[in-house]
Amino acid sequence: MERLDTFLKKIQERAKTYIGYPVATDYDYKELYPFLDYSLNNVGDPFIASNDMQAKEFEREVIEFFSELFKAPVENHWGYVTNGGSEGNLYGLYVAREIYPTGMVYYTESTHYSVQKNIHLLNMESIVIRSQPNGEMDYADFEVTLQMNRHRPVIVMANIGTTMTEAKDSIPIIRDCLKKYAIKSSYIHCDGALAGTYLALLGDNDFNFEHGADSIAISGHKFFGSPISNGVVLVKKSYKERIGRAIPYIGTLDTTIPGSRSGINSMILWYAIQKWGKEGMLQRAQNSLENTAFLRDKLNEIGITAWSNPNALTVVFPKPNVHICKKWQLATENEIAHVICMPGITKEKLMEFVDDLKKLQ
Ligand SMILES: *Cc1c(COP(=O)(O)O)cnc(C)c1O
Repeated sequence: MERLDTFLKKIQERAKTYIGYPVATDYDYKELYPFLDYSLNNVGDPFIASNDMQAKEFEREVIEFFSELFKAPVENHWGYVTNGGSEGNLYGLYVAREIYPTGMVYYTESTHYSVQKNIHLLNMESIVIRSQPNGEMDYADFEVTLQMNRHRPVIVMANIGTTMTEAKDSIPIIRDCLKKYAIKSSYIHCDGALAGTYLALLGDNDFNFEHGADSIAISGHKFFGSPISNGVVLVKKSYKERIGRAIPYIGTLDTTIPGSRSGINSMILWYAIQKWGKEGMLQRAQNSLENTAFLRDKLNEIGITAWSNPNALTVVFPKPNVHICKKWQLATENEIAHVICMPGITKEKLMEFVDDLKKLQ
């Protein structure tokens, strides 16, 4: 169809200069195409059978992969494949609210916009904590705020890679603060949408369950890469059990937020795990880190002050002119812009960008 041909040409063209948003592009899911002829629906709990037109066996393996990666308690974990990081964060908050209905939510000003929306949806009370210039939580501000509200259960939405500068809030420091003020009831959700997966692969994992996380959310369409947005949320199983309701009509427990969920999404994540394996995935992460350092150095060489947080794939620099921002689809906020060196972006592509900047500055 002509309309589709035109649209395809347009996105093929735009994909050539897509470096401002964190999506891996080095994937190939053609082996899964035959399954697109079927309506696979993973409705309800992945660990409880529903009808046969579903792909829950793949979903369970995806959950097991991430449980291991994030060191979730062997006998006490649960999760499902979401439609993205935002839904995973919503689920974490939902569980936290069921456990601590009078809890106060703490999150920093660098937190993803969806968290505020979700807090509003769930009608929870919250306080915004200041960020340091690199985007990380200002722990002194957290402490002062915590002290004033120490009579209430604490729910922390921690950033494991903020959207703009990819900063990581320190779970050990947050826990020290909770201890200092003798907070008895607390819940820590880690928003690892952007960076959670590769940080864990790189061994930079002081945010995992062993280090105090109660739930973790990641986006699948970012570091893994996927034509359909998806993600994973993991919680301790004992928490989830406060939520499920048996629904005779679907023959399973309604423990997730959406109703119908795509079975293909679970197969996509499963396929990526099978194809690359942990080793291959680590290789992709290391390659991307190398490209991040490469871009940062090249920008600094031409006099542009570029920086990145430790183990981050995001290079931050002053916002260039509007033509550059438009052509390279850069995400900007106030006076800064960033490029995210996700798998699929080559050094050649980054050099093309640097040359453009040099010419058009
Ligand atoms: C992208 C992102 C989200 C939202 O994830 P989606 O998959 O787009 O819903 C949440 N938090 C952070 C830090 C992100 O980078």
